[in-house]
Amino acid sequence: MSDNAQNGYRGLGLAVLEQHGVSVWSDVEVESARGHFRGLILPRSETADERHIVLKLDSGYNVGIAADTITAMTEHGRREAHYKIPEKEFPRDPAKPNVVLFGTGGTIASRLDYRTGAVIPAFSPGELYGSVPELADICNLQTEKLFGVFSENMAAPQYITLAQRIGEAIASGIDGVVIGHGTDTMHHTAAILTFMIQDPPVPIVMVGSQRSSDRPSSDAAINLINAVKAAAEGDIAEVQVCMFGPTSDEYCLLHRGTRVRKMHSSYRSTFRTIGDIPLAMIDPHKITLLRDDFKRRRSDRNVKINTAFEEKVTILYYYPGMQPDILEALVEMGYRGIIIAGTGLGHVNKPLYDAVGRATAAGVHIYMTVQTLWGYVQMYVYETGRELMGLGIVPAANMLPEVAFVKLCWVLGQTDEPEKVRDLMLTPISDEITDREPYNGYLVFQGAVPEVQEFLRQIKR
Ligand code: ASP
Repeated sequence: MSDNAQNGYRGLGLAVLEQHGVSVWSDVEVESARGHFRGLILPRSETADERHIVLKLDSGYNVGIAADTITAMTEHGRREAHYKIPEKEFPRDPAKPNVVLFGTGGTIASRLDYRTGAVIPAFSPGELYGSVPELADICNLQTEKLFGVFSENMAAPQYITLAQRIGEAIASGIDGVVIGHGTDTMHHTAAILTFMIQDPPVPIVMVGSQRSSDRPSSDAAINLINAVKAAAEGDIAEVQVCMFGPTSDEYCLLHRGTRVRKMHSSYRSTFRTIGDIPLAMIDPHKITLLRDDFKRRRSDRNVKINTAFEEKVTILYYYPGMQPDILEALVEMGYRGIIIAGTGLGHVNKPLYDAVGRATAAGVHIYMTVQTLWGYVQMYVYETGRELMGLGIVPAANMLPEVAFVKLCWVLGQTDEPEKVRDLMLTPISDEITDREPYNGYLVFQGAVPEVQEFLRQIKR
């Protein structure tokens, strides 16, 4: 492998470096359609895209230059910088619980070297201990890197491997599981894992970070410490997400895997429990339960792993003016299941009705969810809803669209019989459908307003 490839360059980025005879750590002048730059070519992380060259400018800033805009690169010398996270042996204490951290990628898997700006992964127990020594106060940690991808690249093959490895770790006697994951699609993975791994005896805690650990405002360490604590000491034996709480860095929230969603593209406090209240608040000293209806930690090793998955399923996000040809095309392309995210209580326009009828008659399973995210599909309220149900659309109660989507993938991986599909879809496994949505879920536990902070402080006391 060339030096550039070893330093994370692939595809077009790699080709452009090679074409101009320069490499990582070259001090270069770059001519591009965006202008003239002078700086040091930095390594890239494994999960970075293929289209950019990253330069550290003399000002200290890093810039990404699109490889296809570069017309010339001239080398003026080389300034190699080596960076290593101080690695210290992770101490083992037989009295402490054993936790495994599975890495899948995302921002939490990378760390930026202050000096060079290079993004490098910090992952081995020794590196993690070197950077977040608090972890050793909580457990004996082992790590296993399963993938190194940004989370938009997670899909069925990764879900299946992850579920199987978690099953094996549980069988081997582990006390808790943590999954490092990109935040963007963490709620998809959390939801599918709740279906693929049923009744786990120990906590399975997903964690990520919105800001990488080089930034002073990074949430990486606090999220990781709390996730490891939830896995090692927590009593909630469910798939859950541990992410930064409302506004301070005091605590994280534990969210149920089927009720959580990323709600802000850059804010650290991006995860929200939807249609319910979170499971718990957690800080390095305390886990404060907010509810008591969860599945508890057990000492047995019984867990059901079912990795069924049908990939020909889609989400149709309805918009006013949608044409029936979209639906027809999906049926023609062999899609077996469609989750519609409808407006209001679960609506689509009249012109779609005939196409819906033809699709369900052709054996396509169509379920209705709501774009509002909070609240239930209610198709009995208006005549139009009743008509759509007559055409074979099944209301999916208060399942979130992404949750209904992954559940339908999982269900159709097991059966195609409409009655069985319906039965599996509408029988809650892990609170993906709840009897009611609490008023204080929508109004109180969403954070970021001072009154809410005060309310939470009162509970914490
Ligand atoms: N794009 C990243 C991902 O989801 C963001 C993150 O890790 O938070 O993989």
